[in-house]
Amino acid sequence: VLAAQPTCVLLNDGNKMPMLALGTGRGTAKETDTLDDVRNAVFWAIEAGYRHIDTAAVYGDEEQVGQGIADAIAKGIVTRDQLFITTKLWNDKHARDQVVPALKESLTRLGLEYVDLYLIHFPIATKEDGSPDNIDYLDTWKGMEEAKKLGLATSIGVSNFNIAQIDRLLANSNVPPAVNEFEVNPTLTQEPLVQHCMSHNIAVMAYSPFGFLVSRSKPDAPPPRYDDPTLGAIAAKYNKTPGQIVLRFAIERGLTPIPKSTNQKRIAENINIFDFELTADEIATIANFNKNVRVIEIDSWKDYPNYPF
Ligand code: NDP
Repeated sequence: VLAAQPTCVLLNDGNKMPMLALGTGRGTAKETDTLDDVRNAVFWAIEAGYRHIDTAAVYGDEEQVGQGIADAIAKGIVTRDQLFITTKLWNDKHARDQVVPALKESLTRLGLEYVDLYLIHFPIATKEDGSPDNIDYLDTWKGMEEAKKLGLATSIGVSNFNIAQIDRLLANSNVPPAVNEFEVNPTLTQEPLVQHCMSHNIAVMAYSPFGFLVSRSKPDAPPPRYDDPTLGAIAAKYNKTPGQIVLRFAIERGLTPIPKSTNQKRIAENINIFDFELTADEIATIANFNKNVRVIEIDSWKDYPNYPF
């Protein structure tokens, strides 16, 4: 029996985005994980009811994501137009005239004619060797607008942009970003940035939605961890797992969480969150874990222009 299906968010350009995406970033991958795990994960996810997949050129797995999609279409589980595929432009392709060619390369790897959403992965521009470059993300955005005009990306947006960068982009663009994708979880609730995006009708995709719950088990990591008693009590009340409670917390806030899993059982578990609701008190209790501590911090970029954190 399929879980209740995720609802959609209406984007500011009229397109609809499914409110839960499979993450395929390999930041938490174990040494034994292979790229073929991504192919299987994408297939299992679509089989379990996911309609939104999040990838990026820099993850090096667009080919496997495309294979998983092709497997699902070949088996008659979905058609292309029922899926919502997101990929991202890497930092070393920020010149305006590099954007459309970079997207075309992603499309070739994915085996697709268009993506549903193309994001500038970071506001930071680098050269190919990773050293800082001084390309303005407003120029990059002009390339993104061209990609949309060509129909190669149905919607366009950004990732890891802060409030000032969002404002500057809104004030200097023809097409506003439809989405901002950034880290949100119980230890990094991001109330100001979430509120700011929503007030400008920019939808939020929440990456690393589990925060320190499971995979970032350093001894000094802040709570909640998977065995947290507060989360456990809420989970027991709804007959759900702590992981499902944390994902539902994002949904209750109107966000689109992007849980990554390559495990078939956990992939199915993570979408099984659309048949219950948290109370306002429970949402406030989970929000109280906030420490403004990030899972993803890229120290080596701290001195680069446009570092967003
Ligand atoms: P997540 O918060 O999704 O955590 C992933 C970890 O949680 C993995 O170790 C996974 O293991 C485990 N896990 C998944 N489901 C469960 C569950 N139900 N119970 C227990 N453990 C579970 O972290 P990510 O950092 O990967 O973020 C998710 C996605 O967001 C990325 O894959 C990527 O697509 C995107 N992202 C985007 C960024 C950006 O800059 N735009 C930056 C970082 C991430 P297992 O696979 O074994 O289940």
